[in-house]
Amino acid sequence: MKILKLNNISKDYNVSGGFLQPNKKLKALSNITLEIQKGETLAVVGESGCGKSTLARIITMIENPTQGEIFLHGQSISSLGMSKKNRTAIQIVFQDPYGSLNPRQKIGDILEEPLIINQIHLGKIEIEKKARSMLEKVGLLPEHYDRYPHMFSGGQRQRIAIARALMLNPEIVVLDEPVSALDLSIQSQILNLLADLQNQFQLTYLFISHDLSIVRHFADRVMVMYLGQIVEEGSIDQVFQNPKHPYTKALLSATPIADPSIKKERIRLTGEIPSPLNPPSGCSFHNRCWLAQDICKIEKPLLTKEDHRSSCHFPLSK
Ligand code: SF4
Repeated sequence: MKILKLNNISKDYNVSGGFLQPNKKLKALSNITLEIQKGETLAVVGESGCGKSTLARIITMIENPTQGEIFLHGQSISSLGMSKKNRTAIQIVFQDPYGSLNPRQKIGDILEEPLIINQIHLGKIEIEKKARSMLEKVGLLPEHYDRYPHMFSGGQRQRIAIARALMLNPEIVVLDEPVSALDLSIQSQILNLLADLQNQFQLTYLFISHDLSIVRHFADRVMVMYLGQIVEEGSIDQVFQNPKHPYTKALLSATPIADPSIKKERIRLTGEIPSPLNPPSGCSFHNRCWLAQDICKIEKPLLTKEDHRSSCHFPLSK
């Protein structure tokens, strides 16, 4: 069942052009169309600056899109406005477990704050009970309720951030690089916890990551972004076993694989990522693509509409 749909979402920012110069437009997202099914994990990958975090802020309604519409259960969020139901249905867990918790608040207050801000009508005792029980669900202890963030490790703080996101009983959780600030040994514990919570609460995840080896094991589908656009999307098997876009192939070639018997050639991309203030004509990847032809510099490739979609004039095949 489709739970979330983004239709043609774009996000531009006005950037000062300098003294006596006109303002410029930074195109952070261009024509993003996607659907997420209930209970699945859709990973979003790409290099830094590709628009992943802007997408997270738009989906969680921290920012409004410049263009396009978002549908939750088939109803337009933009036309309904920021109703309480919309605000609570989609929550976010940020990357940095140190920066995302207020050091002056006790854990209990941190967990209860979203309920108070969103005017959830529960008595004080019920709210406290819910917070203590949520601490247990994320692998902490009810007595941690009265402690402060500095008394916890990075992994424990991320558990607290996850507990806070779940206090409003969301349907969708945006996980913005949720383990990249943690030690390797802790990463798998947090990923296992997220998988358990997804089963327990029937959660839908949008999992933003730069780490394809984690994505491969954690997600059901993956969407690859480059310069604010979708260049490929499909199931994990489709994209990892048969990448169609040269950019995806290059990203995958740089991902370590556990099996030493499998040899793969590393594709080293040359050239800089173009500025989103001045995106290239035609295919935005053409200045770094080893398969580029003349048409790639002139004509923008369209994203195909099939199940495993990509945008390339010369898609790869197995
Ligand atoms: Fe490369 Fe051309 Fe495909 Fe762009 S459209 S990825 S430049 S082959």
